[in-house]
Amino acid sequence: MCRHLAWLGRPRTLADLVLDPPSSLLVQSWAPRRQRYGVVNADGWGVGFYVPGRAEPARWRSARPLWSDASFASVAPVVNSGCVLAAVRSATPGMPMEESAVAPFTDGRWLLSHNGRVDRAALPPSRQAESACDSALLAALVFARGAARLAATLREVAALDPAARLNLLATDGTRLLATTWGDTLSILTTPEGTALASEPYDDDGRWCDVPDRHLVEVGPDGVSQTPLEEPA
Ligand code: GLN
Repeated sequence: MCRHLAWLGRPRTLADLVLDPPSSLLVQSWAPRRQRYGVVNADGWGVGFYVPGRAEPARWRSARPLWSDASFASVAPVVNSGCVLAAVRSATPGMPMEESAVAPFTDGRWLLSHNGRVDRAALPPSRQAESACDSALLAALVFARGAARLAATLREVAALDPAARLNLLATDGTRLLATTWGDTLSILTTPEGTALASEPYDDDGRWCDVPDRHLVEVGPDGVSQTPLEEPA
C-alpha cells in the first residue's frame, strides 16, 4: 500500500523531506523497506504544504510515479515549509487511476492521506469526495465529522468493515494527527521538529515505531500517543 509522511517544525525544503533522504518517499516509491501490501508505489504521488500568510495549503499531485516527475525535482529544492504532508500511491485493485484519487486530499485548511483500504460500502456516499476512491470517500467522512472526532469516526468505520486498514495522516498546518490501524508508522522527534512516516526515511537512531491501533497527536504542546481501542 501507499507510503506517507508528515513534518511539523523548522521549515525544510520539499526536496529535503521527500526526495533527498536515503530512504525518502522517492526511494520508497520503488523500494519500500517495510511495506506489507503491494510492491511499488507507482500509481501517483502528492504533496501538500503550508506557507506563511496563507491558511490553506498548497498542493501538487500527479497520477504518475514520483520518480518520473522532473519538474517537481527541479522545484522541490527551493520550496520551504514548516508543515508538509506527502504520499506515494499503490492503488488498491478496483480503485480509480487518476490524479484526484491520490493523497493528500484537502478540505479548507486540512490535508489528509490514507494508507490502507476500506470497503466503500462501509462509507457514506459524499458529494464532497474528490474521487470515488475508497481513500477519498474516507477523507470526506473524516473532514465532515471533524478532527475532534477522528478516533470515533475511525472506530465506527472499522466496526462496519473489520478488514479495513486505516492508517491516516492529517494536518491543518498547526498540528499533525495520525492513526495506526493495520499498517506501519514511525515517529522521529528532534529539537527541530517531528516527522511521522510509514517507514523511517533515514537511519537516524531516534526513530520509534508507533504501536498498532493508536492515535498520535503532534502539536505545540508536544507529542501524545493514545490507544484507539478501549481496554477490554
Ligand atoms: N486504497 C487507497 C488507494 O487505492 C490507498 C492505497 C494504499 O494505501 N496503497 O489509493
